[in-house]
Amino acid sequence: MAALAPAILVRDLRKSYGQFEAVRGIDFEVAPGEVFGLLGPNGAGKTTTVEILEGYRQRSGGIVSVLGQDPERRPRELRKRIGIVLQSTGMYRHITVREALAHWARFYPHPRDVDEVLALAGLQEKADGLARTLSGGQMRRLDFGLALVGDPELIFLDEPTTGFDPAARRAAWDVVRSLQELGKTVLLTTHYLDEAQALCDRVAIIKEGRIVASGPPAELGASSSTYTVAWRSAETGAMESRETEDPTALLHQLTSAALARGGQLQDLSVARPSLEDVYLELTAEPPSESAGDSDSATEAAANV
Ligand code: ATP
Repeated sequence: MAALAPAILVRDLRKSYGQFEAVRGIDFEVAPGEVFGLLGPNGAGKTTTVEILEGYRQRSGGIVSVLGQDPERRPRELRKRIGIVLQSTGMYRHITVREALAHWARFYPHPRDVDEVLALAGLQEKADGLARTLSGGQMRRLDFGLALVGDPELIFLDEPTTGFDPAARRAAWDVVRSLQELGKTVLLTTHYLDEAQALCDRVAIIKEGRIVASGPPAELGASSSTYTVAWRSAETGAMESRETEDPTALLHQLTSAALARGGQLQDLSVARPSLEDVYLELTAEPPSESAGDSDSATEAAANV
């Protein structure tokens, strides 16, 4: 049996703005039901890529398939199968939340029940309030609701939680998890590594228009063979750390020395690089005076 066709397929995608090449040949695939994250610093090319997939921008080169179609032609059928949460919409202000959802639902052939969407987006209590009275976080929930009400197969979320307070972020994460449970495919962009780690099955890290790493968030760090061993120095009371590819030998050496002194190794830990370590390393500016204060792994490397 053939494997399920990817929900999104991108091959050698390129986009130039005049002389400037913002996207420089990227490849990735998103499987149906997967939550895929595009991570990268400002200006990396995330929004450009997503908007090409949504059909809002034209590519300069490469192949793009979204639910088996080329979004550049803006096929009507495709637009009914995708949901888009833009960075901010706020397009309904003078009608109630329920009315906004019901209105938007009419554009779709098989919309979800409005009450169900209110529940999914956590907006039941605000259902009969005017949209303009919603807080920023609640407005964002309405954006989510609008993206869901057409019951799309694929949902694009561009920086879904930027500007949220911690509680609103967690609520938005719950919405994304509900989408995942419903079997939807989600493509999101984010600057927040904890968000990518919490939500994404796989991520691609983009820098200057190229993918510099991709894979499940946990594996991006775990694929590294370098471990960081940290402990509190008995002499100075300060934390010390070393990077090693052989933590067994280093721990043996450290613990033997501590036992020989009749002491202990306080605050001992052995860690692999986190997604954040990998991200910072891959997206760091070329070596400069600012390199070096980002995390313990980088500092430890300098100390060995
Ligand atoms: P951010 O995290 O800041 O949203 P991003 O990764 O989404 O960034 P893009 O918005 O895709 O980045 O921009 C990629 C690059 O292309 C940037 O250097 C940006 O200045 C440039 N760019 C984007 N849109 C245009 C445009 N319409 N005309 C010219 N240059 C553009």
